[in-house]
Amino acid sequence: SQSKTPSKMDNMFQNYSHSEIARDTATIKNSVIMHLTATFLRTPMSMDSGHAYLASAFSVRDRLLQRWNLTNEFHDRMKAKRVYYMSLEFLIGRTFDNALLALDLREEYSKALGDVGFCLEDIIDEERDAALGNGGLGRLAACYVDSMACQDYPGWGYGLRYKYGMFQQQIINGYQVEAPDCWLDSPNPWEFPRPDVTYPVKFYGHLERDPSSEHRYIWKSDVVYDAMAFDVPVPGYGTTNVGNIRLWSCKTNSLFDLNKFNSGDYHGATGGQVAAQILTDVLYPNDNTNEGKELRLRQEYLFCSATMQDIIARFKKTGRPMRDLPDLAAIQLNDTHPTLGVPELMRILIDEEELTWDEAWEITTRTFAFTNHTILPEAMEKWPVPMLDKILPRHMGIMYDINLFFLQSVEKQFPGDRDLLRRISIIEESNPQQVRMAFLACVGSHKVNGVAAIHSDIIKQTIFKDFVRIQGEDKFINKTNGVSPRRWMNECNPDMSSLLTEVVGDRSWVNDLAKTKKLEERVTDQDFRQRWWDAKQANKKRLADYILTTTGIRVNPNALFDVQVKRIHEYKRQLMNILSVIYRYHCLKQMTPEDRAKELHRVVVFAGKAASGYWVAKQVIKLINSVAEVVNADEEIGDVLKVVFIPDYSVTAAEYIIPASDISQHISTAGTEASGTSNMKFVLNGGIILGTVDGANIEIGEEIGEEQIFFFGCLAHEVEDFRHYLRFHQPKPDDALQTAFDMIQRNTFGDAAIFQPLIDSILRGGDVYLLSVDFPSYIQAHKAVEDAYRNREEWITKSILSVARMSKFSSDRSIQEYAEEVWNIEPVRVNSCNMSI
Ligand code: PLP
Repeated sequence: SQSKTPSKMDNMFQNYSHSEIARDTATIKNSVIMHLTATFLRTPMSMDSGHAYLASAFSVRDRLLQRWNLTNEFHDRMKAKRVYYMSLEFLIGRTFDNALLALDLREEYSKALGDVGFCLEDIIDEERDAALGNGGLGRLAACYVDSMACQDYPGWGYGLRYKYGMFQQQIINGYQVEAPDCWLDSPNPWEFPRPDVTYPVKFYGHLERDPSSEHRYIWKSDVVYDAMAFDVPVPGYGTTNVGNIRLWSCKTNSLFDLNKFNSGDYHGATGGQVAAQILTDVLYPNDNTNEGKELRLRQEYLFCSATMQDIIARFKKTGRPMRDLPDLAAIQLNDTHPTLGVPELMRILIDEEELTWDEAWEITTRTFAFTNHTILPEAMEKWPVPMLDKILPRHMGIMYDINLFFLQSVEKQFPGDRDLLRRISIIEESNPQQVRMAFLACVGSHKVNGVAAIHSDIIKQTIFKDFVRIQGEDKFINKTNGVSPRRWMNECNPDMSSLLTEVVGDRSWVNDLAKTKKLEERVTDQDFRQRWWDAKQANKKRLADYILTTTGIRVNPNALFDVQVKRIHEYKRQLMNILSVIYRYHCLKQMTPEDRAKELHRVVVFAGKAASGYWVAKQVIKLINSVAEVVNADEEIGDVLKVVFIPDYSVTAAEYIIPASDISQHISTAGTEASGTSNMKFVLNGGIILGTVDGANIEIGEEIGEEQIFFFGCLAHEVEDFRHYLRFHQPKPDDALQTAFDMIQRNTFGDAAIFQPLIDSILRGGDVYLLSVDFPSYIQAHKAVEDAYRNREEWITKSILSVARMSKFSSDRSIQEYAEEVWNIEPVRVNSCNMSI
């Protein structure tokens, strides 16, 4: 696509743009030492690896800053249309290594640090993850801003700067115990505080009619908090563009009550500050569940209000009339969490910008688009009307009006269909009434998308069925998720990346994954195949070391690594996995030592966090750890089977685990996993999937060929019939499943009473996730995996062909599709060429 060029540049800007980043080791060393002494008051003699990391990170950030400023200045001057990706979660992970690779300075920093006695890899390990998200949804947002930056799309992420990110998971006595993630305790080189970018956000109070207009209201709020921006640079690879994630934090200084302090009421003096600060203190640790807490609603509104005010302020600088907003701004709602942006934009346009309702609605719906991430009933966001009315009285009024006008138009289209009106109403007529956020997001947007083909079909047949009939098929589209090849290959898998570079001839595959297709030409090259295998083995060795450090368990890197790492959730069925492990253990125990020795050795790896209030998920973690304890201590079993639960799953842990898998499991009940993204990462790193016909597994199978993937289980369209049957009939476990239950019930893994509720969820709770239905085919699929793995040559072929065919799942492809079909934006490349015109 075309790059725009400015017509005129002033000299200062031109000179600035031409000052290239210094790359020589001496300058880098000086800049590190400068930060060590001037920023951290240390000397090279007293430098430890923590300070070596901080000083190096600050010196890299200086280099990024220059590009960051240039990018934003350039986009402003060009009046480029920007996309704003609104997400309550950004699961960024570490930035240092990513930035070094993007700036192509990794070797130089390695040398410079080596000169002062440090190893770059150790320094990298000093960085704490920015874990401002729960799982797939938050990591998707991080991959998407990365792809925007790398492809020169003028795009910003907007989110919240939680003081405590995703909790740290400790395993004590087999149980998950949560500890706060105080990630901001040490300086964070990757954020820039922006006290000058602060907006007031109102809460509570009452409305007064604006005497000058019957549509406008004056909102007399009771409380006003200040939201202050922190900017997080997103380094673009292969471009000088640097993207941005703007995170809001509640600023508390103005809430200090000096009068109360002076009168001796010290507690009261800071009370306002505490109440404000708590808004951006904690990330709600729920993945795919709606907690419905009032504080969460206030968090969402603070986020939406600050973001909309900021977007409008930037737009106003262009001097264009308000009706042009959709020509310069596209806003993507990452799930329903930012949906209050819709009534907030309406409020600003009507009450502050003095537009009519119709003008405001036209602008709003042309600006917003909405990504749906789930249809799990427990995840559907709904807010009680009385709560909204109390906290956001003006918005509640606007939402009533949006609903009224929408229902009136539907009544015209389908006269007399009262049941239809009841089904599609944004306000659910329950007691109390509730606002259905997915419906509000849908009505307020010009496009609605699901995140994998099957999921986009399902939403059209279920939650949005009526909306498709009313608003037309074209509004509902699919945008299959993707993952960034920068982080999920180039950064996390250096050995395999070198092989890709060798095959492609250069590193261009990092920004153009289709180039890896050339791998297919090497699939018969014996030497190459051996090096492919060796790369995987080296990654397995690295993971074995990581497992030893984090759990104390020693595993054999030559065993089959069988991995399931993701949030612990009933629909993801870690329970089915551990039950199959129990059955395998039983089978091994029945064998003679000679037969057992012939068995394929296997390391079963689990990792993942359970929401703190999700009792069943926490019991599953306990069961996994209890099984691991027994199996790993069983001398008869030895290395034939090892079970590992790696604590505190995170992006950084994923970067160790994913490149090391032989098989990974993505075994959700068909129709429940919207897409999944770790499935893509595992295959991209040469692992094979054992999975259900669900989410993006299906498209992965289509792309890489069904011989490269092990599918099992019932299909999405069969699920309702099975569930219906199981509501009225007790499941009949097959022999394998029954054997696993028996072992648990004989106290093999400790007190059976602890685990009985898990068994009951299958036998007496209607087996909602159909474990009893899928278990036989699951065991069969495991056998097929084993047979295939025993044939090493066949396995290597599968692995190479899979990687060669994964280009569809680059987030670059997803972002291009969004840019063209949803946002209508074009890349704008900042480079010295167009700067010098
Ligand atoms: N959690 C973390 C820390 C991740 O890195 C990822 C993906 O890489 C996920 C969750 C999402 O995993 P899945 O797609 O298997 O649900």
